[in-house]
Amino acid sequence: MSEIKNKAFWQEKAQRTEFPNQIIINGEFKSSVTGETFPCVSPIDGRVLTNIPACNQADVELAVTAARNAFESGCWSELPPGVRKSKLLKFADLIQKHGDELALLETLDMGKPIGDSLAVDIPATVRCIRWNAEAVDKIYDEVAPTSPKELGLVTRDPLGVVAAIVPWNFPLIMAAWKIGPALATGNSVILKPSEKSPLTALKLGELALEAGIPAGVFNVITGLGKEAGEPLATHMDIDGLVFTGSTAVGKHLLALGAQSNMKRTFVECGGKSPNIVFPDAPDLDTAAKASAVGIFFNQGEVCTAGSRLLVHNSIKKEFVEKVINAAKTMQPGDPLDPETSLGAMVDKAQMQRVLSYIETGKSGGATLSCGGVQALEKTGGFYIEPTVFDNVDNKMTIAQEEIFGPVLSVIGFDTEEEAIAIANDTDYGLAAALWTTDLARAHRVSRKLRAGSVWVNYYDAGDMTAPFGGFKQSGNGRDKSLHALEKYTELKATWMNLDY
Ligand code: NAD
Repeated sequence: MSEIKNKAFWQEKAQRTEFPNQIIINGEFKSSVTGETFPCVSPIDGRVLTNIPACNQADVELAVTAARNAFESGCWSELPPGVRKSKLLKFADLIQKHGDELALLETLDMGKPIGDSLAVDIPATVRCIRWNAEAVDKIYDEVAPTSPKELGLVTRDPLGVVAAIVPWNFPLIMAAWKIGPALATGNSVILKPSEKSPLTALKLGELALEAGIPAGVFNVITGLGKEAGEPLATHMDIDGLVFTGSTAVGKHLLALGAQSNMKRTFVECGGKSPNIVFPDAPDLDTAAKASAVGIFFNQGEVCTAGSRLLVHNSIKKEFVEKVINAAKTMQPGDPLDPETSLGAMVDKAQMQRVLSYIETGKSGGATLSCGGVQALEKTGGFYIEPTVFDNVDNKMTIAQEEIFGPVLSVIGFDTEEEAIAIANDTDYGLAAALWTTDLARAHRVSRKLRAGSVWVNYYDAGDMTAPFGGFKQSGNGRDKSLHALEKYTELKATWMNLDY
């Protein structure tokens, strides 16, 4: 008989879970060179789960040497793609097999509801690794249309050693979006998770070894951005740097990558995405619920969060009421309860940052229509009620800056042109959505929106089959789809003289 996985099940499992707390370099589980650690705190209740190695330049040197040696040995980089594929499929199978354990680590570490970890994070991680594994033995190189007296081969070589620096909001998925294509194309990888969510990355390193990915090919180091991340960005023997995180750090890493060895640097950064509701939306109830989920899912800690709701003034009052009603069904709760839809903010600092944006919204003249306060304080964790600001002007701080929390800014508009202008009046360009039954308007507006993903009549759609990334200061490069593989390879032209 299958177990009933209710709140009691997860709470009990949380008490006897073992937390990974060693980095993995060259297939070995290690402490940091200095032996220093930092506490891994659960935002659910503030308890210290374990202590994590605080790596620095010395650990980076060891990881780079291991990754370089593995790459040059050809133990992975020169395997037939079909063999890499089978090992990566095994890796994906192991992630699936350990799905409950990984989901629990993710929830305890960064506060997202266990239901989301199980339904979203684990399947998306497994699918990403599988998809990339399946892709690599189906991609052909090219023969250039040259004269018959020569042969022009157009091939793709792996970059070599790739460092991946990832954030805390979807620790497993963000890691998978990088390591999936990087490993599939034959690179050696050093993964550095966020210091706020290191647990599942360490577990991934362990499972990769179990899957038969050779020692040194996939290394995991932990630590603060400045101490463990910057030495990766400045290293002269790292060929590629792939990053997901804030725009400020992304810009810094682009500069460091360029100033060091011009390593191929791709950054996926923040967003302030507009969600535009026209009066002819197919169904206002559906649109309102999707708008609420679009901002409050994952506590609003989503790069594509629909944080700016642009609503036609003729329906604004009615629509905002519907959004608030939907928000009321997403109150913060125990992340270990499968019924919970809004969990804890990742840590105290992030909670305070969001609360301070809420104060800025109030003092800036926006109308606080619901939420706006901390919740569940007695737990010792870090929770915020879903918050809606009405009558927001797009010039206000809360409409311009990425809050990365459950805070929605509602902005009214009167014409299509005005909606497009407001939507594009941002430094970011990650995603946008519009709701309309007018086919011509759907095409017209979506073409004008400066965003890497545009959704018509739903929010936050996506799949491994389509690229994901941003325009403007939301980043460069793309994750997912075959386009992502381009980032991890160099294009080579080999000319052969057949006329001698
Ligand atoms: P962050 O930029 O603070 O940190 C991201 C990673 O960079 C962490 O591992 C961190 O340790 C490291 N880091 C920080 N400073 C560094 C430095 N000086 N040198 C090297 N590494 C450094 O971002 P965060 O708070 O972890 O994540 C939230 C951000 O991520 C938001 O802006 C969100 O929009 C963005 N994000 C973007 C996407 C996307 O695909 N575009 C997806 C998820 C999250």
